[in-house]
Amino acid sequence: MSIKQNLHKIQSQIPQHVTLVAVSKTKPNTDIIEAYEAGQRVFGENKIQEMVDKYEALPKDIQWHMIGHVQRNKVKYMAPFVSLIHGVDSFKLLKEIDKEAKKNSRTINCLLQIKIAKEESKFGMSEKDAMQLLQSEAFNNLKNVQITGVMGMATFTDNTSQIENEFLTLKNIFDTLHKQYPNFKTISMGMSGDYQTAIASGSTMIRVGSSIFGSRNYN
Ligand SMILES: *Cc1c(COP(=O)(O)O)cnc(C)c1O
Repeated sequence: MSIKQNLHKIQSQIPQHVTLVAVSKTKPNTDIIEAYEAGQRVFGENKIQEMVDKYEALPKDIQWHMIGHVQRNKVKYMAPFVSLIHGVDSFKLLKEIDKEAKKNSRTINCLLQIKIAKEESKFGMSEKDAMQLLQSEAFNNLKNVQITGVMGMATFTDNTSQIENEFLTLKNIFDTLHKQYPNFKTISMGMSGDYQTAIASGSTMIRVGSSIFGSRNYN
């Protein structure tokens, strides 16, 4: 199936309140244009330099989401245009984003990445860390960042009940935080292999790459 057909198929399967982030990492601009011409405007990348290059080459009404782990020294390159940063997992990083957002006279929306997977390799904060950060005076003094929700990645496994449990854990953490922070609106969870489970567990934003663009070649 073509990129356009894949996109339309996924769009027809997901409820309207769920945002589809088309994960275009490693894919050429021609693929992104094909998705763009099929109506897609939200794209996700996991490397800042690659996202900057694509931003510069492609239509300016694309919303670029940074979904990967962020190195603080590279925040400045995406600060002029990034529309949502999914992987915020420390106050230090948030402070850097705030500083660069301010230089660009912007407010940058961010999600707190919560560690829900059992794997050591996955990044993220605990619920307690997230709550402490949100309640801290240092955070409340940052005027150019806004936390609009949470993001999580499930364990890479075939065990669907484990994946579902991890997604439900994130949904519960979101609900707890939402009581104190009514501006929270986004639960970013679900990828090609598990987005249906994620939506059934309360996801409002899915990050789908290979089911739209085909498998990636990292060579
Ligand atoms: C690559 C990536 C995705 C998309 O993965 P697919 O399995 O290709 O859909 C989603 N989220 C993050 C954080 C990623 O790095």
